Amino acid sequence: MSEFLIETKNLYKYFGKNEVLKGLDIQIKKGEVVVMIGPSGSGKSTFLRCMNLLEAPTKGEVYFEGTNIADKSVDVFSHREKMGMVFQQFNLFPNMTVLNNLILAPVQNKKMIKAEAEKKAKEMLSRVGLEDKVNAYPQSLSGGQQQRVAIARALTMQPDVMLFDEPTSALDPEMVGEVLSIMQELALEGMTMVVVTHEMGFARNVADRVIFMADGVIVEQGTPNQVFDHPQEQRTQDFLSKVL
Ligand code: ADP
Ligand code: MG
Repeated sequence: MSEFLIETKNLYKYFGKNEVLKGLDIQIKKGEVVVMIGPSGSGKSTFLRCMNLLEAPTKGEVYFEGTNIADKSVDVFSHREKMGMVFQQFNLFPNMTVLNNLILAPVQNKKMIKAEAEKKAKEMLSRVGLEDKVNAYPQSLSGGQQQRVAIARALTMQPDVMLFDEPTSALDPEMVGEVLSIMQELALEGMTMVVVTHEMGFARNVADRVIFMADGVIVEQGTPNQVFDHPQEQRTQDFLSKVL
């Protein structure tokens, strides 16, 4: 068994002639919090989506818990359910209560019986501070609350890793903090996390490792201190000068 929970090898993704990912080798250890930063269009979302096979890689390997899930013979669903994903747009089902949003996947995938899923769901809702919203509908909640529900929904599946794609970018500024603090708690509890974000304060405080990506390649990576305070590459310096 590899020491890595996730490992991509020589990962390529093309959309037609657009070469979006150009041979990425990224390793993520269990319990590690990796923050990915980089200009818009550099392939961060595509990378996350290739990691859980929402996008099929053009070439290369994606090892998850020792299995190459990019191999066409692998049952990707059984692996993907161990990867929670949280998007910029919360993607809650508007016609379902919060509780039903949370139990849908675990019950449908037959991972849990309904009563067990409800118990787990309520546990996760209280973890994100929304136990009183069990029977609410998504549109009655604020953006920050909806995103916390989306996080609770992903956690109800008891994932081994959480992937976040700009989870606070669609939020009003006053709601960013409540979502980041839930994420920080998760990190402190030891959850393995890959987070694409423009929140540099979060990256600095919570990341074990920061990866700066541009044009489909890793330009530079290291601890927050290395990347933010001592960037080695001109492209990293240029990017940071715009966002810090
Ligand atoms: P980032 O998340 O860093 O902003 P993306 O991964 O969203 O970057 O996009 C990288 C490039 O891939 C962009 O040029 C984008 O237009 C292209 N792209 C992303 N998804 C698709 C898709 N489904 N079909 C075609 N092109 C796509
Ligand atoms: Mg993106």
